[in-house]
Amino acid sequence: RPDLAARLAISLKFAKPAARVQAIDGVSLAVRRGEVLGLVGESGCGKSTLGRIVAGIVSPTRGSVSWRGKDMKALPPSERREAKLRVQMIFQNPYASLNPRRKAADIVGEAPRVHGLVGGDLGTFVDEQFRRAGLDPALKHRFPHQFSGGQRQRIGIARALAVQPEFLVCDEAVAALDVSIQAQILNLFMDLRERLNLTYLFISHDLGVVEHISDRVAIMYLGRIVEEAPSEEIFARANHPYTRALLAEVPRIETTKRGFAAIKGELPSPLSPPSGCHFHPRCPHAMPRCRTEAPRLKVVAAGHKSACHLNDAAV
Ligand code: SF4
Ligand code: MG
Repeated sequence: RPDLAARLAISLKFAKPAARVQAIDGVSLAVRRGEVLGLVGESGCGKSTLGRIVAGIVSPTRGSVSWRGKDMKALPPSERREAKLRVQMIFQNPYASLNPRRKAADIVGEAPRVHGLVGGDLGTFVDEQFRRAGLDPALKHRFPHQFSGGQRQRIGIARALAVQPEFLVCDEAVAALDVSIQAQILNLFMDLRERLNLTYLFISHDLGVVEHISDRVAIMYLGRIVEEAPSEEIFARANHPYTRALLAEVPRIETTKRGFAAIKGELPSPLSPPSGCHFHPRCPHAMPRCRTEAPRLKVVAAGHKSACHLNDAAV
C-alpha cells in the first residue's frame, strides 16, 4: 500500500499546445509513491506529451509539475537536475534511443559515470545493472543490433535503472514487442517495482496491458482526463462512455459480453477538438448540453472520478 508519509505528488495544470505538441487541457494527477498509474487513451490523445512533461523533457505552457510536493520550476538548478535524474523514461522503441555505434555497456554506464553515481568499478556497476534488467552481463560488449527486441528493451531499462530512478515513465514500453515478450517485460517491471520501490506512470493505448500492471488507471481523451479510478473499478464499473467503448475493444471475454458499442468515427483533430465534451461526436449518449458544456471530473464512487454529464442526469 502507498505510504502517505512518503507521498510523491505530480500535478500538471496547463493549457493549449506549443507548436506540434499535443494539447493537454487542465490535467491534474497525483501519483502516490510505489504506485503504478496506468494512463490510457488512443494514439494522439496527449498521453505521450503528458509523460514527457512528467519526465521533464517537455515544459508545460501553464501550470506546474511538483516532485515530492515541490514545484520543479522553483527548485534550485542542482536539485532540479537531481529530480530529473530520479524520473526516467522508457520508450516504445528502444532501438531508436540506443546509439547503434556504442556497445551496450557504454550505453548503460554513460549517464551514471557522467553524473558521478558509480562508487566503485564501472564494469562491476554495469554488470549489476544488466542483472537487474535480466540481461546476461557477458553480452555487454555487444552492439544494439546484436540483441533481440526484448533484450534491447532490457538495455533501455538497465540504462534507466543505472541512474537510480524512483519514478519510471513507460511510454508504450511493450507495444512493439511480441505478446510472449510483453509478458516477460511486464513481469520485470512488476519485479523491479517490488525490489526498488519504484513508482510508474505506465502509458499505453492497450487496456489489457494496463490492467495487468496498474493499481489505478486514468483515461485520457483529446488532452483531458475523462475518468480515473482504481484498476479493478475501471474494469468492473467503468463510468465514462469513452472508457466503456475502449473496454469493448479489449479482447476479454467478460467485457465483450457486455455488448458495448465499439467507438464510432475517427479521433477528431487534437488541434481543434470538438466543443463541450470532446467525445460528443462519437458518444452514443450525447445530449444537447454535451456540445456546449465541458463536463468536469466528479467523484462517482470512492476513489473514482468521471467527467460525463450523464452523472448529473442520473441524480
Ligand atoms: Fe457522452 Fe455527453 Fe457524457 Fe460526453 S458528457 S461522454 S457526450 S454523455
Ligand atoms: Mg504516443
